[in-house]
Amino acid sequence: MTLRVGVFGAGGRMGATVCRAVCDDPDLELVAAVDPHHAGLDLRQVTGVDLPLQIGSAPDGFPDAGVEVAVDFTHLEAARGNLAYLAEHGIHAVVGTTGFSDDDYAGFRATFTSSNCLIAPNFAIGAVLMMRFAEAAAPYFDTVEVIELHHDQKADAPSGTAMLTLERIAAASGEWADDPTRTEVVEGARGGRGPADIRVHSVRLRGLVAHQEVLFGATGQTLSIRHDSYDRSSFMPGVVLAVKQVVDRPGLTIGLDALLDDAP
Ligand code: NAP
Repeated sequence: MTLRVGVFGAGGRMGATVCRAVCDDPDLELVAAVDPHHAGLDLRQVTGVDLPLQIGSAPDGFPDAGVEVAVDFTHLEAARGNLAYLAEHGIHAVVGTTGFSDDDYAGFRATFTSSNCLIAPNFAIGAVLMMRFAEAAAPYFDTVEVIELHHDQKADAPSGTAMLTLERIAAASGEWADDPTRTEVVEGARGGRGPADIRVHSVRLRGLVAHQEVLFGATGQTLSIRHDSYDRSSFMPGVVLAVKQVVDRPGLTIGLDALLDDAP
């Protein structure tokens, strides 16, 4: 039996890649696609997948199409609305859209009672490992800064991956040396302050996809942990894994970590 999948944001950079990944997996079936600004268009035109499916303007067609899991890579406001719909209709959600607040997460915990929701700010397995390695290194260093680098169309900063990395580093160690800066000649030169006041720097550059470096320092040594996504296909094994596993994970799951531990 295949798992029936719907995709929000099918006309976007990530959504179109997800449509192709779902079609390439023999255990999954792409049965619905939504993207308001591409509504009415043939999915083949927009994503290149060989499937005679018309893109819808809203998820109203999901129940009739028998969507069991919906994937959302859209924009923050749109994703909030899409997730409310999925929770209300008992459809499982796999979400890559970034920028959610703690209040959003609390809301999803309360509303996803008859279906499950998995949100990961980064579906690249190498990025998940980067966060794990950073968490493991944190107690052994005195200073740390996070630099995240993305393409020039990214609307939110810092990235969801950077925020999750900061939270995990801060949870692993609260013992960080004071910032020596007394004067910022250019405002913002030292970046923003995340959890535990750890500095985070966001670079936006044409030509990049998604990259992050965690820099640790102690007397006489530094450690750099870097991950690079060169292509959006790097996120697809994680998305496909999440689509298959979300069905068995009640409530809200944040991040891919737990899934990697359970992966066959
Ligand atoms: P994008 O190219 O702008 O794609 C978003 C698509 O969603 C657009 O086609 C947009 O249409 C459409 N959309 C807007 N409102 C919608 C709605 N209500 N229902 C369905 N579709 C809707 O952006 P992207 O680069 O694919 O990134 C999408 C999100 O994924 C961002 O939040 C980004 O940070 C995140 N991301 C996450 C990961 C991860 O691993 N978790 C990796 C990469 C990106 P219009 O543009 O016409 O409004």
